[in-house]
Amino acid sequence: MANRQKILILGGGFGGIKTALELSEHPLFNVTLVSDQKTFRYYPQLYRIATGGRRDASQIPLAEIFADKNVDIVYDSVQTLDRQAGIVAGASGQKYNFDILVIALGVVTNFFGIKGLDKYAYGIKTVEESRRLRDHLHKLLIEKQKPDINYVVIGGGPTGVELAGALPDYIRHIMKRHNLADRPIHVDLVEAEKRLLPRMPKSYSRAVTKRLRQLGIKLHLGETVKAETADKLMVTDLSIKSHTVVWTAGVTNHPFLADNNFSLSDHGRAVVDTYLQADVNIYIIGDNADTPYSGMAQTALYDGKFVAENLKRQVENKQPQGYKPKKPIYVMPIGPGWAALLWDRVHIYGFLGWMVRSAADFMAYREFEPWRQATKRWQASLETEETCPVCVAKRPL
Ligand SMILES: Cc1cc2nc3c(=O)[nH]c(=O)nc-3n(C[C@H](O)[C@H](O)[C@H](O)COP(=O)(O)OP(=O)(O)OC[C@H]3O[C@@H](n4cnc5c(N)ncnc54)[C@H](O)[C@@H]3O)c2cc1C
Repeated sequence: MANRQKILILGGGFGGIKTALELSEHPLFNVTLVSDQKTFRYYPQLYRIATGGRRDASQIPLAEIFADKNVDIVYDSVQTLDRQAGIVAGASGQKYNFDILVIALGVVTNFFGIKGLDKYAYGIKTVEESRRLRDHLHKLLIEKQKPDINYVVIGGGPTGVELAGALPDYIRHIMKRHNLADRPIHVDLVEAEKRLLPRMPKSYSRAVTKRLRQLGIKLHLGETVKAETADKLMVTDLSIKSHTVVWTAGVTNHPFLADNNFSLSDHGRAVVDTYLQADVNIYIIGDNADTPYSGMAQTALYDGKFVAENLKRQVENKQPQGYKPKKPIYVMPIGPGWAALLWDRVHIYGFLGWMVRSAADFMAYREFEPWRQATKRWQASLETEETCPVCVAKRPL
């Protein structure tokens, strides 16, 4: 069809996929999505993959999401942007033309130059990283026949508190499977700020702190990480012996933005106008954009929908609408059957919070898949999956 606009979307995560799905059926758009991964990563379940959860709950093949959609999927890592020519070039050497560009490339891990972290620390930002951590937990227990001296999580943000909360129960579970003698498990959580979840209300942070302490987690608040070696983590004036240190404390904006001369805010995020535009016909959404609630999956979904709506309005000769930031709902699971929910002024703690979180996972899957597949994936989020031969051989405890 003539006069179709070429929409090029960079990034197959929350924001990019949402934009593509919203525009896929419109007769006046040709949509292409470029991703460096064949699967969509559902980050909120990654701490579960590290603690025995099923891989299916954390990744969905892009080919499945777009099976019956009018979207071209290209697997490539994008590198450079030529604004004048309207072309993005990928590492493969391919060039992608656009009339309208939507950038949703997410963030990358940043160790802030702290010595040893890149070599020794574990991460949970991808399924592979989470599985590596899980395999390490098993291997260490098998080799030493006892738990590590300390298990250390760096970062008192949502990812760090979720992981720290899940670790004691999972390590105890592996020990039972391997018939190891019961011993105390030491999990430490290190946070540079004086309190956990420093960007959230104090009362919420207090409730999460109390819960972690009840689970036996030792908190090191206001402590800065200095360096890591093979068997210890140096923190301000203290060193913590450990072979298991997990870094969840730092991410930085995708290098594509700085490399291609986008204007960045003090937070390192791209400056956008009220339509989430950074340049004429170039939109930036999700974690890449400097918006009040950037850094949340819900914001990336909201942004994707917002930009898609305005692009539709534009081709229908309607005025675009201005961006109204939407407060996200925070629901953090911390240990089995317990979650902390914050919805504006509503706080809910405990099993009810955990149920809301489970429902939120289902609703998130539904953003990407039809009912049947979303239900299966949600079921997978409640199940376990092990590769350790000892654990696989045994029946559920
Ligand atoms: C462990 C963890 C847990 C989280 N838990 C929650 C939670 O419970 N609730 C919540 O709201 N938020 C959570 N978040 C934050 C949330 O996941 C992000 O805010 C969200 O993913 C942002 O969406 P996005 O589209 O901007 O980026 P992403 O979803 O990260 O998507 C970016 C995509 O771009 C691709 N890409 C990167 N570089 C290139 C390249 N050069 N070329 C092509 N493609 C590329 C990536 O592979 C990825 O698919 C969590 C994040 C992490 C890391």
